[in-house]
Amino acid sequence: MAACWARIRGRLRDEVGEVEYRSWLRQMTLAGIEGDEAVILLPTRFLRDWVNSHYGDRLRTLWQGEDVMVRRVDIRVAQPALAGGSDGQPEYALAVAEPSQMQGLAESLAPAPMFRLPDRPAAEPRSDWVVPLEARFTFDTFVVGKPNEFAHACARRVAERPASPGFNPLFLYGGVGLGKTHLMHAVAWAIRELQPARTVAYMSAEKFMYRFIAALRSQNTMEFKETLRAVDVLMIDDLQFLIGKDNTQEEFFHTFNALVDQGKQIVVSADKSPSDLNGIEDRLRTRLGCGMVADIHATTYELRISILQAKAAAARVEVPGKVMELLASRITGNVRELEGALNRLVAHAGLFNRQVTLDTAHEVLHDLLRAHERRVSIEEIQRKVAEHYNLRLTDMVSARRARNVARPRQVAMYLAKQLTQRSLPEIGRRFGNRDHTTVMHAVSRVAELMQQDAGFAEDVALLRKMLES
Ligand code: ADP
Ligand code: MG
Repeated sequence: MAACWARIRGRLRDEVGEVEYRSWLRQMTLAGIEGDEAVILLPTRFLRDWVNSHYGDRLRTLWQGEDVMVRRVDIRVAQPALAGGSDGQPEYALAVAEPSQMQGLAESLAPAPMFRLPDRPAAEPRSDWVVPLEARFTFDTFVVGKPNEFAHACARRVAERPASPGFNPLFLYGGVGLGKTHLMHAVAWAIRELQPARTVAYMSAEKFMYRFIAALRSQNTMEFKETLRAVDVLMIDDLQFLIGKDNTQEEFFHTFNALVDQGKQIVVSADKSPSDLNGIEDRLRTRLGCGMVADIHATTYELRISILQAKAAAARVEVPGKVMELLASRITGNVRELEGALNRLVAHAGLFNRQVTLDTAHEVLHDLLRAHERRVSIEEIQRKVAEHYNLRLTDMVSARRARNVARPRQVAMYLAKQLTQRSLPEIGRRFGNRDHTTVMHAVSRVAELMQQDAGFAEDVALLRKMLES
C-alpha cells in the first residue's frame, strides 16, 4: 500500500509540477484503506477543501489505476499519527511569504498557491501560513538602551505571558529602522520556544490585505477568518499600511475583537501612536490603544555605540573605538543604516584582508558620511551652548560683554564656523549683528584656549558631539 501511495504521489507531482505540489499536496498522508475507500489526511480544512475540489477526481483515478478495489477517496482533516517527528523545531504556523513570494497584488491575487507550506507536517493542527521569521531578530541580538527599554520590556512580558491583562493588545510604535520588526520577530521566536503549542501568526498589514483580497476573490473569506481566528497570537506589522483601506480595516477590526474575546494575544506595530494614526477608524483606534502602547524613541549616541559594539562582536571583527564613534556620531537616523555602514566596513576589511581603521572607514564610507553630514543650524548651536552654560538664548545675541556671557558666545561662534557652511560675516550677523572680525577673533581665541585648557577643550568637544548627533 505504501508503495502504491508513493507512486501516486510521484505521478501527481509530475503532473502538477513541483511548485504546485509543494503548495498543496505535499502534506497529504495516507491513513489507510477502509473498505473501498482510501483515506487521506491533510492538516487543515482549507487544504482539505482545496485538494478535494482541485485534485479529488485525479486522486481517485490514480488510486484505481493502482488498486481496482479502491473506488473512492476520502480526504479528512487530521494530523498524521507520526506527526512532527523528533528532529527538532515544530514547523510553525506562521505568517507570511517574504517579499519575493508576493511580488505585487496581481500575483497574490492569482488563485494558485498562496501559501508556502511547511516541509514537514506540523505537530498539531495549525494554520497553513508558514513562518519566515528572520533568524537574527531575537531578543538575544536586540540591544537595549534608554530609547527602547520600555518597548523591549513590554515585548518580553508578552512573550513570556501572552494575553496577560493590560498587555493586550501590545501596540509598538516608532520611526523607520528603529527595531519594531526585530522586536516582533523576537516575541514570535520566544513564544515558539517557550510555548511551542501556541500558534503564532505574524504578517505585515500589507500581506494581511493581500490575503484578504485574495480570499474575497476566491470566495474563501470563511477560510480566511477561520484560519486567523484559530491562532493564539496574531502579530500585524506596519499597521499604518491600512490607512484608507476601509474594508481591510473592518475585517481586521472583527478579527481583532474575535481574538481578544477569546483571550488571544494581539501585537501590532505602526509608525505612529494610535491617536496619531490618521485615517484609522475611531473604533479600531480605540481598541488599539486600550492595551499597552509602547514607543521606541530615536536612538541616542550611547545606544548607537552599544549596537555597533554588539554587531562587531557578533561578526567577530575588531572595530576600533574611534571608528565606532565616527559612525555613531554621523549615522544617526536609524539602526538599519548604521548596520549597513558597519557591514560595508566589515565586508571591505574581509575582502582586502585589512584591518578596519579610521582611514579605511573614511575611504569606504565617504559617500555615506557625506550624505549624513549634519546640517546644524546656527540657532541650534546657540540654543545648545546657552543651555550648556546656563544662559538665556538672548544672551547669544546680546551686547553684554561680561566674561561669563562672552566666552560661551565665542564658543557658539566657533562651533558655527566648524559645523555650518556659513561665512564669517553671516555668522556675525546672526550673533547680534557683529562684525566678521569679531567672529574671526572668537574662532582663534577658542582654538587657542582648547590648546591650553584640557577641561575647556573637553567641554567644547562634548558640545560638538551633541550637536552632531
Ligand atoms: P523597523 O521595523 O522599526 O523599521 P527593524 O526592526 O527592521 O526596524 O530594524 C532595522 C534593523 O536594525 C534590523 O536589522 C534590526 O536588527 C536592527 N536593529 C534595530 N534596533 C536594534 C537594536 N536595539 N539592537 C540590535 N539591532 C537593532
Ligand atoms: Mg519593520
